[in-house]
Amino acid sequence: MRIAFGEPLYLKDAGKCPVCLKFLTGAAPTTNNREEPVWSPKVGDYSICMYCSTILRFEFNSQYKEADREDLLELQKNQPETFELLSKMVVAAQQMVAERRRKQKGKHRSH
Ligand SMILES: [Zn+2]
Repeated sequence: MRIAFGEPLYLKDAGKCPVCLKFLTGAAPTTNNREEPVWSPKVGDYSICMYCSTILRFEFNSQYKEADREDLLELQKNQPETFELLSKMVVAAQQMVAERRRKQKGKHRSH
């Protein structure tokens, strides 16, 4: 599965993932919107932590919160295409996380 991303953005005031507590210093939009050349995440935008594959929501001051069931139900109802994309991205993120864990295990074994 491929998802087209726009230019990734470095977030200087990066927040922490509330689940795995890693600093999230970058984000990429899922579309290349030429009318908005300088993309930046907005409050209420969804994101996925690439360390633990949790669905997050941007809050004020570059903070994140874990998206809850109500957030996702609302998204599914109001923006079904975005919800669909987010669902696919979560699967891709889970695969990346699993792959990274496999590689790390392999490294430990060789020591
Ligand atoms: Zn995380």
